[in-house]
Amino acid sequence: MNIFKAKSINPGIYIGKARFLVSKAPIIRHSHISADKAAAEFEYLTDSIDVALAQVRQILTTLPEEGQEKEIFETQEMILADPDILQKLETLVLKELNSAPSAVKIAFDEVIAHFEGMQNDFFASRAVDYKDVQQRLLDILLGVHTDPLSSFQAGEVLFCLEPSPTLISSMATQGIGAWVSQKGAYTSHAAILSRGLNLVAITSIPELAFKVRDGQQVIVDATRGELIVEPDADTLARYQKLKADMEASALKDQARALEPAITSTGRRVRINVNIELPEEAATLKAMGAEGIGLFRTEFLYLDRSSLPDEEEQFQIYSSVAKDMAPFPVTIRTFDLGGDKLSHLIPFEPEENPFLGCRGLRFSLFRPDIFKIQIKAVMRAAVAGNLQLMFPMVNDVEDLLQAKELVAECSKELAEQGIRHKADIPIGVMIEIPSAALCADILASEADFFSIGTNDLTQYTLAVDRNSETLSYKYAQHHPSVLRLIQMVLKAARKAGITVGVCGEMASILQYVPLLVGLGLEDLSVQPAKIATIKSIVRKCDLHLEEMVQNSDLDHLGEVEDLIYQKLKKYYQD
Ligand code: PEP
Ligand code: MG
Repeated sequence: MNIFKAKSINPGIYIGKARFLVSKAPIIRHSHISADKAAAEFEYLTDSIDVALAQVRQILTTLPEEGQEKEIFETQEMILADPDILQKLETLVLKELNSAPSAVKIAFDEVIAHFEGMQNDFFASRAVDYKDVQQRLLDILLGVHTDPLSSFQAGEVLFCLEPSPTLISSMATQGIGAWVSQKGAYTSHAAILSRGLNLVAITSIPELAFKVRDGQQVIVDATRGELIVEPDADTLARYQKLKADMEASALKDQARALEPAITSTGRRVRINVNIELPEEAATLKAMGAEGIGLFRTEFLYLDRSSLPDEEEQFQIYSSVAKDMAPFPVTIRTFDLGGDKLSHLIPFEPEENPFLGCRGLRFSLFRPDIFKIQIKAVMRAAVAGNLQLMFPMVNDVEDLLQAKELVAECSKELAEQGIRHKADIPIGVMIEIPSAALCADILASEADFFSIGTNDLTQYTLAVDRNSETLSYKYAQHHPSVLRLIQMVLKAARKAGITVGVCGEMASILQYVPLLVGLGLEDLSVQPAKIATIKSIVRKCDLHLEEMVQNSDLDHLGEVEDLIYQKLKKYYQD
C-alpha cells in the first residue's frame, strides 16, 4: 500500500480501479502543400472549424442556463471564432503553404506555449482550453472519431496528466465518478466543471505515471487530499465503511441543513462559507450557509486580460450580496503575492514570497489598485450586507494604515456625491503570529476577527503550507497554534467583537468539536461541508466544553489524544 499527498479539487471518497487516459494526440508531421492546393486546403480548414463550432454549440445546449459550466464552452466557442487565430491559420496555409493539420498544430502550440509560460498558475492553466480546442480540430481534420473514454468502464478512476473541460463533461455521462491528475489548479475550468458535476477529484501528484499502474485498486480520498494505491485489507474495509457512512449521514444531515447549528448547551455557532468565485454564491443559501465568511477576491484579479475596474467589482459584490441577503458577506481584500501572482501587476521576484510583499502589505504598496476595490465594496454595501476584511495584517499599524485608506475612499466618494457605506464593518484576519500576540491591541480597532489557520499554522511552525515533504509537521492542532487561538478568543471577548475561523481547520470534521469547545462562535467552511458541520455542532454538549476547557493542551500527543480519542464520538456517527 502506498499513500500520496494530493490537492483536493472536489471533496469525497471514491474507490475503484486506476486507468490512465492514453494520450490520443496524433503525431503531426509538418507537411506542406503545393500552391495550387492552398485555397482548397484553407476551405477544408474553415469547414472543419465550422464543424468544431457546431460540436461545441451542441454541448452548450446540454448545459444548464445558469452557472459556469456554460461559460467554459462559450470560451471554446470564442477561441474558435478568434480573428487573430483565424488570421494566423490563413497565413500559415495560404502564404506559407502548410497543410491544415500542420497549421492548427503550429498556431495553437504558439498560444499554448505563451499561456504555459506565464508565472501565474491560474493563467497558465488556461492553456488547457486551447489544447482542448486544438485536439477537437485535429480530430475533425484527421477523421479521428474515437472517444478517449470509450475503453473505460463505469466505476474506474481516470488518471491523466491534466484533464480538459471536454474530458470532464464526457466523464460524467460515462459513469466515471473520479479523476486524479498530475497537474491542475483548483480554479481551472476542468476543476470548476468537476465540482458542478460532483466528480471526486484530486491533483498535484508529481510523477503520477510512476506511482500507479493501470488496473491497480485505488482509493481517492479527496476529503483529506490523498491517493491510496493498493490499499491493504484493513484500509479498504475502513474506507468502504467510511464511504457508506458518509453517504448515509450526508442524507440525514442534509435534511436539517437549513436549520441553525445550536449546541445542546444552547450556543449558536454560525456556519458561513468560503468562496473563491462569485458564481458560487447563487446556491449557498439553499445549502444552509448563514453568510460568506471569506470571499477570496484575489481570484478576480488572476484569470484576466485586464484588472477589474471599480464598476465591475461593484457589480460583482452587489450580486454576491444579493444572492446571500440578508446574510453577511465578508469581502477579504485581495491577497496577492505568495503563490498568487497576477501577470497584470509587475512583481519583483522575491526570495521568500510567503514572507514577502503579500496580502495587505501588497495592497498598501499599491493604493491605486487597493482603493478601487475598497470603493467598490463600500458602494455595494449600501444595498447589501457587506463587510471588509484585511488579510496578512501584522499589527495595529497595518490596520490603521488600511483604515486611513478606507476613510480616504469614503471622503473621495462623498466629494463625488456617490452613495456608499462609510461605516462598513472592518475585520482583521488573524493569520500571522504577531497579530495573534497583539490581538488585544488590534481588537480595539477592529469590528471582528477571523482566524486564518492555514497561514497561522504555516507562520507559527515555520512550515511551508504547500510543502509535501514537511506536511507531517504542518499540525494545525499544534499546542502553539491552539494557544494563539485561545489568546485571540480572549482578546475578542474582552473587546466584545466576534471571532471566527475561516482557515481549512474549520472544514476538517475532526477539528470542529475542538473549535466549538474552545469557544469559537463562527466557522467559515467549504460549501460541501455545511450540513455535516452543522450536525456536529448540534452534538456538542456541556461534557465536550468541560473536556476541552479542562484539558491539558501543552503537548501535541495530548491534543491528539483529545481530538482522535475523547472527541471522536462528536464527529463520528
Ligand atoms: C488562511 O490563511 O487560513 C486563509 C483562510 O487564507 P488563505 O488560505 O486564502 O491564505
Ligand atoms: Mg491566509
